[in-house]
Amino acid sequence: MTHKHILLLPGDGIGPEVVAEAEKIIAWFNQHRGTHFTTSTAYVGGIAYDKTGNPLPKETLDAAHKADALLLGAVGGPKWESLEYAARPERGLLGLRKELGLFANIRPAICFDALADASTLKRDVIAGLDIVIVRELTGDVYFGTPRGVETLPDGTRKGVNTMVYTSPEVHRIARVAFELAEKRNKKVCSVDKANVLECTEMWREEVQKIRNSEYKSIALSHMYVDNAAMQLVRNPKQFDVMVTGNIFGDILSDCAAMLTGSLGMLPSASLGAKDKNGKTPALYEPVHGSAPDIAGKGIANPIATLLSFAMMLRYSFDLGKDADLLEKAVTAVLAQGLRTADIMQDGATKVSTSGMGDAVLKALATVAKESEKAA
Ligand code: NAD
Repeated sequence: MTHKHILLLPGDGIGPEVVAEAEKIIAWFNQHRGTHFTTSTAYVGGIAYDKTGNPLPKETLDAAHKADALLLGAVGGPKWESLEYAARPERGLLGLRKELGLFANIRPAICFDALADASTLKRDVIAGLDIVIVRELTGDVYFGTPRGVETLPDGTRKGVNTMVYTSPEVHRIARVAFELAEKRNKKVCSVDKANVLECTEMWREEVQKIRNSEYKSIALSHMYVDNAAMQLVRNPKQFDVMVTGNIFGDILSDCAAMLTGSLGMLPSASLGAKDKNGKTPALYEPVHGSAPDIAGKGIANPIATLLSFAMMLRYSFDLGKDADLLEKAVTAVLAQGLRTADIMQDGATKVSTSGMGDAVLKALATVAKESEKAA
C-alpha cells in the first residue's frame, strides 16, 4: 500500500489515554502487515483552547485537510463549561465536521457475545446484535438559523433553534445508508417525525424517492422517532441499517450504545463527499465523550477507539482483512475474560487501559498467524 498519513487528535479527558493505545496498534500494523502509516498529533477541544485560545486552531484544520484520515479521542470537560459558546471544546469538533464536510456519521452497534450479559437488557434481546445507525451530521437544528436566545420587551426570554434540511442533503445521506445496506441485509429504516414536523415529512418523501429511483433492491421502511426509540430497546434485532437526521441520530445512537453494555465499546466514522482527487474526508472516533470522572486514572476502555481504527482500515484504506483481524483480536481478548472496569463481570480479570491495549496487541499476533495458516 502507499503511504497514508493519519492525524491524531487526542483531545481532552480520557482522549489521550485511549488514542495512545491506538498508536500501539498502528505501529503493529506497520511492523507486521506491510502498511505504511505515518502519524502526527494536533490539538482540538479544551486543550486547543488552553494552548491557543481557539478550540479548533488553524494549524489543526490545515493538518486535517492534508491528512488521509483523522483519529479523535474526545473533547470537553467541566473545566471549559463556563466558556462562551463559541470557545467551548465541542465547537472545535462541530467545526471540524463542518469544515471537512463530514455529513455522514456511521455508528455500528454490535453486541460481542462475551458481553451479552453486561447489557441491561436480557441476553436473548441483544445477543448477536449487529446494526448500524447512519446519522446526518451537518444539518438540522444544530446548524439551522435563526438560532439563539433573546430577551423580549416584557422581560421574558425566548430560545430558538431551527430544523432545516434541503433535499440534496437528504439524498446524499440516504445514499450512504443504501450503499451500506447493499453490503449487508438490504434493509433500511428511515427515522423521522413526519407526523408533526414538516421538515422531516420532506425527509421521508426524499428518502423514498432515492430508494425508488436508485436502490430498488432495498427494503425501505419509515418509523417515527418516538417509536424507533421504543423499538430499539424492545426488539433491536428487527433493524439492520437505520438512517436519520442529526438530532434524532444523536439520541438514538446513544440509546443503541447502551444495548451493547458500555459506551467504551462503540466506534464511529464520519465521512464526507469524495473530492476530485478521489479522497474522502474521514474522521474516526469513539462514540463516548471525555469521561472526566475517570480521566487520568488509567482505567478507560480503549476498545471503542481501537474499533474506530478498524473502521478507518476498512472505509478509508480499503483494508477489510486487516480490519477483520483487529476486530477478531478484540473478540478474542473479551473471550479470554479480560475486562476494563466499565465492562467488568464476575469471574473476569480486570485490566487497565494500557493492559487492554497490550492484550489486543498480543491477540493480534495470534489471530494473524491463524489467518495465515487458514489462507
Ligand atoms: P461520557 O461519554 O464522557 O461519559 C459518560 C459515562 O460513561 C461516564 O461515567 C464515563 O466514565 C463512562 N465512559 C465513557 N467512555 C468510557 C470509556 N472509554 N471507558 C470507560 N468508561 C467510559 O459523557 P458525558 O459524561 O456526558 O460527557 C463528558 C464530556 O464529554 C462533556 O464535556 C461532553 O460535552 C463531552 N462529550 C464529548 C464527545 C466527543 O468528543 N465526541 C461526545 C460526548 C460527550
